[in-house]
Amino acid sequence: MRGLKQLASRSTTAMDNTTIVCWNVRGLTVAEALKDRHWVRTISGGVTAPAAAEYLQVWHAIEDIVLTDAPDRLVWRWESDGSFSVRSAYQALHLGSHPIPGCVRIWEVWAPLKVKLFLWLAVRRRQWTADRRRKHGLDAHDTCFLCDQEPETIDHIIVECSFARQLWFEAATALGATLTEQPAGAIVDWWQTWRALWPASFARGADSMFALIAWEIWKERNARCFRGAATQIPAIKATIKLQAELWVQAGAKHLGCLIQRVIG
Ligand SMILES: [Zn+2]
Repeated sequence: MRGLKQLASRSTTAMDNTTIVCWNVRGLTVAEALKDRHWVRTISGGVTAPAAAEYLQVWHAIEDIVLTDAPDRLVWRWESDGSFSVRSAYQALHLGSHPIPGCVRIWEVWAPLKVKLFLWLAVRRRQWTADRRRKHGLDAHDTCFLCDQEPETIDHIIVECSFARQLWFEAATALGATLTEQPAGAIVDWWQTWRALWPASFARGADSMFALIAWEIWKERNARCFRGAATQIPAIKATIKLQAELWVQAGAKHLGCLIQRVIG
């Protein structure tokens, strides 16, 4: 049926420069066009190879259609029973889109919204780090503001920078875990490694701590970039500890369990 309607929709437009076939089914109902294959008689002009292929396609698509006296009804193609549902509409909306790795965890982690937004942009590499600025033809700092050695990318700042690595290592140790490998790779990959340092029951607390540490590293980078103010690692660790306590008081109960595990 859809093929016939598509065919009908072409009745007034040229298909391309080489197609001279004309399907004039204007004014015909679907029932009238189907009866005794009346639609075939509406085709006129020379039939090019593409037009012939479409003709056969339509022929096969509608050859088994039998109309009944039942009244027409709307059919929602995204559900098997033909009924509309918001769930299927939402899924249809995202058909063909590519999910971003780690994006679900970002919105599930207990962290202030501004931290989640930072993570969202960081995972998508949308922060205005030196590499991105260069890509857009803007001036950019030659090296990372934290280590002053490597080129700056968001993955470097948060994961692979020697400054960040020391912070991750000391935070893991303070929380009773042993970091046996250097933080490396993309942010989402390092996040996965980080949360696996603790038993699964502490994973959500580890997620909050990950968000907090990444956020403090980013803030330190910005302080150095925009204000020329550098804070050393012991002071940042103290800030992270204080912020973690505030987050727990504000409702980050899984983070509280992770911290309590060490204290207890
Ligand atoms: Zn660095």
